[in-house]
Amino acid sequence: MTDVAADPAAIAANLAEVRRRIAAAARAAGRDPAAVTLVAVSKGHGADAVAAALDAGQRVFGENRVQEAEAKWPAFRRDHADIELHLIGPLQTNKAADAVALFDVIETLDRPRLAAKLAQEIARQKPAPRLYVQVNTGDEPQKAGVTPTAADAFIAACRDEHRLGIAGLMCVPPIDEEPSLHFALLARIAARNGLEVLSMGMSADYEVAVAFGATHVRVGTAIFGPR
Ligand SMILES: *Cc1c(COP(=O)(O)O)cnc(C)c1O
Repeated sequence: MTDVAADPAAIAANLAEVRRRIAAAARAAGRDPAAVTLVAVSKGHGADAVAAALDAGQRVFGENRVQEAEAKWPAFRRDHADIELHLIGPLQTNKAADAVALFDVIETLDRPRLAAKLAQEIARQKPAPRLYVQVNTGDEPQKAGVTPTAADAFIAACRDEHRLGIAGLMCVPPIDEEPSLHFALLARIAARNGLEVLSMGMSADYEVAVAFGATHVRVGTAIFGPR
C-alpha cells in the first residue's frame, strides 16, 4: 500500500473531473450520464484516501484483493450504510466465502470451480453479491477471465448448472491494443447473452468505454493518484 499521505482536496477535485468527463462522454454518445456508475478503485491506497472520496460523495468502490478489503472496509461500512463494494481482482476458491461476505459485487467470476464454490457460499450466506463474468477479450494466456469463445457456454453453465444469476460482464483489455475493439467485443457477448451490465474502462480509457456502452467504469489512478 502506498505510504504517501492522501490529499483530500486533490481527490475531491479528481473525482469531480472524472464524473464530469463520464457525463460528457455519455452525452456525446447519446446516453444518459446516470446510466454510468463510477467505481472508484482504491486498491493500494489507505483509509485516508478512501475517507476523502467518501467525503466527496463517492459510494461505489473497487478493491482487487480480499485481504486488503477486509482490513480497510468494515469500519467505513459501519459509518456509511450505502457503500457498494466491488471485487475486481482474481478470486481464489479458498477466499470465496470471505468475498461473498464482504463484497456487494464480484466482477471476476471466470471458471467452473469458482462458480460452484460461489453457488455453495451464496446458498449459505445472504444476501448474495451480484456477479459479473470476466472475459479475457484479448485471449492473453497470463490473464484471468474466460476466453471469448468459451464465454457463452460458461455463462449458460453458471445459470443452468450452478443456478447463479449473472448480472453482467467485465474485461481488462491488453495494454498495448486499441481498447475499443475489446469494449465492442464485450458488448456483443453481453447482448447475445441478455446481459445489461458492462464493466469496462480504466483511467486511460474510460471515456472510450462509455462511448461503447460501459455501465460501470473502474477508475483508480485518475482519482487517487499513482499506487
Ligand atoms: C487497478 C484496476 C483498475 C483501475 O486501474 P487505473 O488504471 O488505476 O484506473 C481497474 N480494473 C482493474 C481490474 C484493476 O485491477
